Amino acid sequence: MLLLNNNKYKIGDRVRCPFCLKTDTRVLDSRLTAIQDSIRRRRECPDCSKRFTTYERIEDTNVSVVKKNNVIEQFDRQKLITGMLKACEKRPVKRDKIEQAVDEIESELRKSGKTEITSRKLGEMVIDKLLLLDQVAYLRFASVYKRFTDINQFAKEVNKLKNRRLG
Ligand SMILES: [Zn+2]
Repeated sequence: MLLLNNNKYKIGDRVRCPFCLKTDTRVLDSRLTAIQDSIRRRRECPDCSKRFTTYERIEDTNVSVVKKNNVIEQFDRQKLITGMLKACEKRPVKRDKIEQAVDEIESELRKSGKTEITSRKLGEMVIDKLLLLDQVAYLRFASVYKRFTDINQFAKEVNKLKNRRLG
């Protein structure tokens, strides 16, 4: 999968074949992704005949993230993906699912119309998504994020999970 913003394969409006590096690729099929903020294009290189998929994102999410020490950072999609991938290490979670979860977070942020979010709130959004993807990944992320200081806090969180499953 290629992401077309800030991508070395994009030259102006043209997309470079990731196999042979020729620039005249042909679009076979275009469609909106499930949450409709990216366009998925199936492409074929007329030169080497290899096929590949690109995702064109409509715009970057223009939200400032206010950290605990009041430092403000630009929302960084890649940072969220990296954090979630780390939490999902060696777990049966596909990268696509993580990308999709981050798409959903971005969509929620856009819909909210907010220009600022605290890192705490953003972390909670990630935690909610991880809970749906994988419980071990959820606990890993939550234990770092909520800075569990002892085993009791960890046990409490595990119990919350159990109750959720029953409830
Ligand atoms: Zn090619």
